[in-house]
Amino acid sequence: MLLINCPYCGEREQEEFSCGGEAHIERPKNPPDLNDDQWADYLFLRQNIKGLQYERWNHSFGCRQWFNVARNTATDDILAVYKMGEKPPVLESNDPITPCGEPAIGSGNFSTLKKS
Ligand SMILES: [Zn+2]
Repeated sequence: MLLINCPYCGEREQEEFSCGGEAHIERPKNPPDLNDDQWADYLFLRQNIKGLQYERWNHSFGCRQWFNVARNTATDDILAVYKMGEKPPVLESNDPITPCGEPAIGSGNFSTLKKS
């Protein structure tokens, strides 16, 4: 269970919130100039980062306000919460240390890539 610190209400349980996906996606300045592939990329393609990701969240069973969350998707650690329109904080990901020296989360696992 995540505890999310709504910037308007304070800390509440995750059940009160809805995730709105990736944050800080900028709408194209002139959509008619885009071809179909570019428009589809804007509408549908989102990053699916394993690690630090900036997301939009809504306190749907509370104040109903939207805000942004910086969350490590691998550990579910919430690193920052900030209001819409504020600049995202520059953060270091808090990826867990791998026990055998494999690359940090998000870069794959060498044990599955080794050839015998
Ligand atoms: Zn709230």
